[in-house]
Parts: sequence; C-alpha cells; structure tokens
Amino acid sequence: MSGDVATAAPELASYDPRGWALWRHPRRVVVFLLVMDALAVVVFVLAFSDSTLSQGRDWIRFAILAAGATVHIQLTQRQEERRRAGTNTVLIDLTAVWVFPAVLTLPTPLTVLLIALIRAQRWYTARRPANTFIFASISHSIAAVLAHLAFLSLGPRNWGSLTALGSLREFSMIILAGLVYEGVQIVYVGGIIALGSSTRPKLRNILGSKADNLLEAITTGLGAITAILLIVMPPAVAVMAMVTVVFNRLAELDQLRDDVRTDWKTGVFNMRGWSESAERAFGRATRSEDGLAVLMIDLDHFKWINDTYGHPAGDDVLRTVAQTLDEVTRPADLVGRFGGEEFLVLLPDIDETTTKLAAERLRSAIEQLRIDTTDKRGGSTTIAGRTASIGVALSPANGGTLEALLQAADAAVYQAKEAGRNQVRFASSTDFQDPDTAGRSILP
Ligand code: GH3
Ligand code: MG
Ligand code: MG
Repeated sequence: MSGDVATAAPELASYDPRGWALWRHPRRVVVFLLVMDALAVVVFVLAFSDSTLSQGRDWIRFAILAAGATVHIQLTQRQEERRRAGTNTVLIDLTAVWVFPAVLTLPTPLTVLLIALIRAQRWYTARRPANTFIFASISHSIAAVLAHLAFLSLGPRNWGSLTALGSLREFSMIILAGLVYEGVQIVYVGGIIALGSSTRPKLRNILGSKADNLLEAITTGLGAITAILLIVMPPAVAVMAMVTVVFNRLAELDQLRDDVRTDWKTGVFNMRGWSESAERAFGRATRSEDGLAVLMIDLDHFKWINDTYGHPAGDDVLRTVAQTLDEVTRPADLVGRFGGEEFLVLLPDIDETTTKLAAERLRSAIEQLRIDTTDKRGGSTTIAGRTASIGVALSPANGGTLEALLQAADAAVYQAKEAGRNQVRFASSTDFQDPDTAGRSILP
C-alpha cells in the first residue's frame, strides 16, 4: 500500500538526531526501517547506473505527469487534509495514478524525481512525523524502481504498433509491474504494522482492508490508463487530472460511510454499525440454525477512573479496552461500543462451551491490561487491574430476536455486578423477554 502509517502524533521537527521520533519506535521497527533504507540505496544505485540517459521525449512525458499530479494535489488539498485527519491506520495515497505511468514509461531517475516532487507538495497536508513521512516516500520510490526493473526485465515493448494479440502481452506486463509495485508497498507498510504492534495484529490490519486494497488496485489501474494515454494521446492526460480529482472525492465518500458506522472515540463499531452487521449475522445464524452469542461487557467502577485520573484517562482506558476486544476476538466477531463504558461482542457460529472460553478470555484480557495514560495534573501514570462484568446471551436459547438477546445479556450483566463484579454470567431463560412484551427497545 502506498501511503503513510500514522504511528505517532505529529510533532515539532527536531534537528537533534537524538530527539527524532524514529527512536521511539520499538527496536525491531527501527531495525526494519534502517534495513529497508539500506536496501533502497542498493536498489537506487543499481537502477541509476543501469538507466539510459533521459531523452527529450522523456522530459516531455515527465512534465505532463508532473503537471497532472500538481493539479490533482492542489485541487484536493483541503479534502485530503480531512481524509488524513480522519484515518488512524494506513492511508491510500491516490497519487499513484501519476507515479505508476512514470514506472511504465520513464527512466528511473525521472520517476524518482516525480515522486520527490509529489511528496514535497504532500508534506504540508500529510501531518506526519518527518521520519514516518520520509520512510513512506522512500518505500514508494523502492516500489516504483523495483516495478520498473521488473517491467523492463519482461522484454522489449513496442507500444506504437500493437496488434490485438500483442496488446494482450503488453497488458499482462503492465499487470505484473502493478503487482510488484503493490506487493513491495504491502511488505513495507505491513512490516511496520506487524513489527510495531505490541500485541499480535490481525492480518486485515497488516494487509489493509478489502476496501483499501480495492482503492489501491483502482488507483494503479487508472495509472495504467494514464500511461497508455501518455503514449498514444498525451493531451488526453488532462482528462485524467480531472478524473483523479473526482476520484479523490469518491475515496472520501467511502471513508465517510465508514465513519457513520464507527465509534469515533474507540474505533470499534458504534451502535448503528454494530446493529446493522449484527442483524445480518443473526439472520444468517437463524437460517442455518447455527449457535450465536451476544456478550455485553460493562467496565467495573469506571466512574472511579474518571474521578481519580480525569476524563482523558477514562477515554484512554475505553480506547485500549476496545482495541483489546478487537484483537482477542476472531475476524468474523463483531465488536461495538454500546455507549458509555459498555461494549457488545457478537460471536457467530459458536456453542455454549466455546462461548464460555471466549468470554473468559475477554474478561482476563481486560484484567491484565496496563494502560499508560495521564493523571489529572497531566503527569504520566499507568492504570492496571481494571475489571469488567460480562453478561452472555445465547441464540436460540435466550431469545428469538437480536433485541431479546441484548435484553438477556443486559440482565446477565446486572447479575454479574450483584455477584461481586469481574465475572462472566450467562443469561437464564427467565431473563428472556419476548420482544413484543419488552418495555423499551435498546436497539437504535
Ligand atoms: P459499575 O461497576 O456498577 O458499572 O460502576 P461504573 O462506575 O462503571 O458505572 P456507572 O454507570 O456509575 O458510571 C459509568 C461512568 O462512565 C459514568 C460516566 O461519566 C462514564 N463515561 C461514560 N462515557 C464516557 C466517556 O466517553 N468517557 C469517559 N471518560 N467516561 C465516560
Ligand atoms: Mg455501565
Ligand atoms: Mg460500569
């Protein structure tokens, strides 16, 4: 994936190397980054020493791509700022629309120059720490250079006089170059995420979501079209500049749609998102007669954290608990914030014994958390040994609708509280309330 990884908050630039944000990464991440940089130097030396001198035609193509990229970047600046502020993982950089045609048509030095030009303009909107930004730029360049070398190694190209069959071969070569270009970036970005995480990250977080990868593939595809236009009808590249501006907007729409379903504070589903997905999972489970469990998780004496350390500390605890729930569950499980300090987890395709183990695993994962945060005076402190009470409802035993399962899980939480907190309670069948007679609805 091209783009920057938001690994740390932006900070004032420091000219003292000892103060660089780089050193605050875990040691294995620093080693990984330095090895990638050493690799970059080798790849650049190889590519530059091998590259033919740029001809006048190359410079014209370079100028067209640089102009297109500049129009794209300048016209999407404000919107890109919003997009970047709203994401906390990997960000797909849509400027690959301009870099990939350079990979296919330009000598390496001009491609690297184009990337430098694009990144220099992006610096002001990226708002990433300098080291993260520079490493992302270098990784983008390595990916471009390796893809270019791969493309060259596939044999001579003659785009001017293509037959139908010949174009099929050219097209496969472009696809292969695109795969190298994407693959190198996935290794780089995924490597940082995998090594930088303190817990075992999910594969989805390393490889990016389906939507991210689709966006990435479309970006590279648009880049391939730009390359073809650049060779057969250069003025038409102006149309691509317009396409990319609109495309940038569409990418933001996609993110806004995600935002509507996400709890802003914790990053897990909000009730709207959770209910939508949970209803679908419930429908599937009912049709296939599979078991399903709903867990309601209420943090114990949470008000005490706010009172003792302040609300920002409380928020840190909520965020860490939400991420932990996400990490220790399976990819198909649904984690959402019910509200306040209550979370919901839906476990599809599960029986009572496995639910017991899963709920117990969640309870103990929360208990073992050590959360670095701030106290009321802004000093640093660690909150540990927090506990949660978990109520569990099983389908079909505890209810015939999702609504009924939530009611039953909620009732079970109160039993867990009454029994002394820090424990898992299963709903009894008497907690089952028929949705028609249930007083209030807890689904939005
Ligand atoms: P119990 O063990 O009985 O669950 O006690 P509790 O203190 O967790 O429960 P109570 O319902 O009394 O308090 C919940 C607290 O959660 C009160 C509220 O201020 C706090 N809270 C709710 N939402 C947020 C939030 O977004 N951030 C912070 N920091 N606190 C929140
Ligand atoms: Mg509560
Ligand atoms: Mg509570």
